[in-house]
Amino acid sequence: MERSNETRIERAQQVKKKRRRLILTINLVLISAIAITTVLSMKIRQEQSSSAMPKLAAVNAKQPQSIDPADPHKQVTKKDQVGNKEPENRDPSDSHNEKSSGEDTKASQAASAAALQKAKVVYLTFDDGPNQYTDQILDILSKNDIHATFFMIGSQLRDEKSSVERLIHEGHYAGLHSMSHSYSKLYKSGGSDHFIQEFKQEQALLYKLTGVKSSLIRAPYGSAPQIGYNFRTAIYEAGFKMWDWTVDSKDWSYEGKPAKVIEQVKRQIHRKQEVILMHEKKQTVQALPQIIAYLQHQGYSFAVYKPDHHVVVNFGKDIRL
Ligand SMILES: [Zn+2]
Repeated sequence: MERSNETRIERAQQVKKKRRRLILTINLVLISAIAITTVLSMKIRQEQSSSAMPKLAAVNAKQPQSIDPADPHKQVTKKDQVGNKEPENRDPSDSHNEKSSGEDTKASQAASAAALQKAKVVYLTFDDGPNQYTDQILDILSKNDIHATFFMIGSQLRDEKSSVERLIHEGHYAGLHSMSHSYSKLYKSGGSDHFIQEFKQEQALLYKLTGVKSSLIRAPYGSAPQIGYNFRTAIYEAGFKMWDWTVDSKDWSYEGKPAKVIEQVKRQIHRKQEVILMHEKKQTVQALPQIIAYLQHQGYSFAVYKPDHHVVVNFGKDIRL
């Protein structure tokens, strides 16, 4: 009897032990499941929030691509053009939000991030003014309620002071395009000293005439190939930013042929962010309304250069500029 009692007690104890182990195992499984779920959901949230800040960070890291550095000037000699290779044309897929605000809630940040990824932005730029066409260009821009960026030649600023003032007053950006626009003066030495000196001179002159301190330059004839790394370092150290372009309208070469200018622009437009090179020329004035209409139709919004929302657009892909 005693023996069988003992066996029963032992069995009962074994059953209890098994149950306890089973409960323990179930608890462990449950706890690990909860832990895994928590970790996973945290990861997913992290991923969502990092992808919700999409292109803004990329803007500074990535560089828009160049298209055609041959800024339009007949002053360029054959010899000058020999080394003038066209940089490769690639999609910059940069975008940038002109209207970001620090107080956004998470939801609206995500929404604006989504909008940002979809947004197509175009910067119209006009070189070599101010001149007799500046007011006509301003009239067209005003009529369409859009703003543009002008790269003006310093030696012309005084004579066209009222157009320059109007341009600034109406919300366009006054960029710098050197005093002389002379290839030999700006680049023949190979050094950056004269180049920097001309741009500083123009910066001071514009400031004297309008009270505006401009820091964005466009190198005459584009920055490639004549402006190398050390040259760019000097530009950076002088406190300038430098823009080339992504679309070359080649407008300067189509005298009397505005349809050709329009065709050039249409052919090259495809990126999420475009910077179109144009000049203050008669055929450009004639082509401009149709170019604007085309870009609107393609879903682009028009942006003007803003130092606080600088985007990198140079052929050297130099993020310092
Ligand atoms: Zn020019």
